[in-house]
Amino acid sequence: MELRLYNTLSRKKEKFEPLKPGAAGIYTCGPTVYDYAHIGNLRTYIFEDVLVRAFKLFGYGVKRVMNTTDVGHLTSDADTGEDKMEVGARREGKSAWDVAKFYTEAFFKDYRALNCLMPDILCPATDYIKEMVELVLALEKKGFTYRIGDGIYFDTAKLPDYGKLAGKSHIEGIKEGARVEANAEKRNPADFALWKFSRPEEKRQMEWDSPWGRGFPGWHVECSAMAMKHLGETIDIHCGGEDAVAVHHTNEIAQSEAATGKPFANYWLHGRFLVMGELGKMSKSAGGFITVQTLAGKGIDPLDYRYFCFTAHYRKQLEFTWESLDSSGKALAALRGTVAKLAEETTFKKTAAKLDKGSAYYLKFVEALADDLNVPQALAALWETLRSPALAPEEKLGFALAADEVLGLELNRAPVVEALPPELLAMVEERRQARKNKDFKRSDELRKALLERGVLIEDTPQGAHWKLVKKQ
Ligand code: AMP
Ligand code: ZN
Repeated sequence: MELRLYNTLSRKKEKFEPLKPGAAGIYTCGPTVYDYAHIGNLRTYIFEDVLVRAFKLFGYGVKRVMNTTDVGHLTSDADTGEDKMEVGARREGKSAWDVAKFYTEAFFKDYRALNCLMPDILCPATDYIKEMVELVLALEKKGFTYRIGDGIYFDTAKLPDYGKLAGKSHIEGIKEGARVEANAEKRNPADFALWKFSRPEEKRQMEWDSPWGRGFPGWHVECSAMAMKHLGETIDIHCGGEDAVAVHHTNEIAQSEAATGKPFANYWLHGRFLVMGELGKMSKSAGGFITVQTLAGKGIDPLDYRYFCFTAHYRKQLEFTWESLDSSGKALAALRGTVAKLAEETTFKKTAAKLDKGSAYYLKFVEALADDLNVPQALAALWETLRSPALAPEEKLGFALAADEVLGLELNRAPVVEALPPELLAMVEERRQARKNKDFKRSDELRKALLERGVLIEDTPQGAHWKLVKKQ
């Protein structure tokens, strides 16, 4: 089946054509590890996780590379301001290295709690300083760089198609924006730092020697160097959140393509923001953001949030509310309940889960994913299949388990059942024994007594089940 993805570069959906048959190299920009990730950041990682899982479903061998930005991301995209890591270090009274270690671990704890598959290659930017310096040297050799007081910069005027990712009008906007905060020494407002010098008055914790003096790499050069090191000069797919388009990814393209003369990435995929009421975009700098710990503190399963992310296409903004998260939690519990029942029925029939990959219901699910990762539609196909009277339990179960390979919702996790007080459980057990001994009179008495106390007994071919109902 043809896999079609919306490419920000061409502004249309395109058929995915890999560089190497059957393989997909994916680079995803990772977190800046100076604070906890919020659930907005995590929406982007969930989208990328489903992308990786979908590629696997389509039979591709995936090599996914993700960095952690542990140096060089400044508080302003215009290459001014302080390094976010140094800000974090001051805030916490720790070394920048300890801050990076702590928040990297915290990030992956949240990431795994959301059932995101670990990347094949994880690269902390500080491990790749040599590659970054080499990239800047290559750019210098080709005449794309110049030196000013605070660093080595990329001359965007030397690249005729600079800004092609964001589009012309967008780029004009960036130039205007950059001008406001611009360093007066820059040749063009959109020029960006490749290597920044440590300021003598600021005692930086993270700095390295380079052919141009002691300092640290620019944020954009990090991703280009690491992506090319692990995936080659041209890569299949590069992803990130929508805020990366205008500056970060635009500049990654500029410096990579200027250095190699080859296209940097064939497909650029961007997830839209998670927004919240009047705050708008959830962001670390705006404060008041929600994390996986916030959810855990309220007893909410992180996978309820994963399900919530599936209620909108990744290219649509998603509005967070506690009510919609609650509805997603209920929907997920209902799905798990249905799957648990199917598993029980299948075991009772002494058969196993079956998956017919050619069947219309499975194709509907797969086609939705193949159409630019339409997860809401794929999820609807799953619900429709589970409700269909035409399918046997083992077929529904086979389908649900296959769908879960992509959705990662742990659908076969038994739903949490409220425990009955021991006294009522004893009555349920006594009724079971009575029925087994064909003492129907006693069994009926107990059934009625339980119903009066809000416990409904249902006899199924697999035995008696109870559920809580309104007291009668
Ligand atoms: P950062 O840790 O700030 O470098 O961001 C990590 C990732 O989260 C990047 O891909 C961002 O584009 C993305 N991101 C930031 N804020 C949001 C948001 N509110 N919704 C979705 N993605 C976001
Ligand atoms: Zn990046």
